[in-house]
Amino acid sequence: MPTVLVTGGCGFIGSNFVRHLLATDPTAAVINLDALTYAGNLANLTDLSGNERYTFIKGDITDRETVRNAMGRGVTDVIHFAAESHVDRSIQDSGPFLRTNVLGTQVLLDAAREFKVSKYVQVSTDEVYGSLGATGLFTEETPLHPNSPYSASKAGADLLVQAYQHTFGLPAVITRCSNNYGPYQFPEKLIPLFVTRLLNDETVPVYGDGQQVRDWIHVLDHCRGVEAAWRRGRPGEVYNFGGRCEMANLDLTRLLLRLLEKPDTLIQYVADRLGHDRRYAIDCTKAERELGWAPQETFDAGLRDTIAWYRANAAWVAAIKNKDYMSYYEKQYGSV
Ligand code: NAD
Repeated sequence: MPTVLVTGGCGFIGSNFVRHLLATDPTAAVINLDALTYAGNLANLTDLSGNERYTFIKGDITDRETVRNAMGRGVTDVIHFAAESHVDRSIQDSGPFLRTNVLGTQVLLDAAREFKVSKYVQVSTDEVYGSLGATGLFTEETPLHPNSPYSASKAGADLLVQAYQHTFGLPAVITRCSNNYGPYQFPEKLIPLFVTRLLNDETVPVYGDGQQVRDWIHVLDHCRGVEAAWRRGRPGEVYNFGGRCEMANLDLTRLLLRLLEKPDTLIQYVADRLGHDRRYAIDCTKAERELGWAPQETFDAGLRDTIAWYRANAAWVAAIKNKDYMSYYEKQYGSV
């Protein structure tokens, strides 16, 4: 019976993963270690209260004793989602990114060694590969070339994981996924930001010329990928996940306007993000071949379901869009 330490389980992907694992594997227990930063939200997992296979610990992964205490509860495996995850915030202040993403990963790796876990999964991002030109795809062999403080901190963590695997034989795998969308995503990321604003007839900020291309994947496809890498991934290996769904930000914005029946006049062009990567696209054939994984959701259906979720969960959104959130938004994009 696995007892999985999930870090960052109150965030977007972590909460979807915890719910997915407990629902699909009746033998699994989950210990969720989360510091509840601005992005961590207990409301993401209220449906699990009373589930005896689920334990929540509020704690910071950079704190060794907290992590050792969590590991001491019979943890067999670690799946590490916790991170500072928003590129724009890393440009405003990179300090928390280095602390959590690099030093926090080091603390977890030390504990994973000490407690001799069966598998350690590092949940990473395609952003560590940098930016593509008009053609080509990121493979697991693409050299790391991170361009933002966020992606540099994630790349640093990935290198540490590889060093612990090589030096100490830690049974670790790394997953690198493209842009996720779906329910419970903090509304600072493009899709929930735009959907929640458009639902209120508010403008949406498009960076630069809007021609930055991203490869979109539904969060549950990513969760199934992380699970497959945990169960079947070979230690020392990297697995890329993507949705085979490339789209320019402006095209996505227009699609959202159409689905929500809003006018193009709600587009507000803003100065481009500093150092903005132009294009990401993932080759996920290794995960398909070795892990038997494939994306199951289509972007069309997934996006419609996601819009319906934000529409139905206005109270969840309203609780997040507090004073701190609004002051971040204004600092980033100017007055609302
Ligand atoms: P998120 O920002 O929604 O959630 C992060 C969670 O980590 C929050 O619950 C937060 O409270 C917690 N956390 C932050 N610092 C912590 C600390 N020091 N100690 C304990 N908990 C802490 O992030 P997300 O979008 O769910 O991303 C999860 C992981 O997946 C990250 O590692 C991210 O780099 C990676 N990833 C994200 C995407 C994406 O599109 N969102 C794509 C690929 C990879």
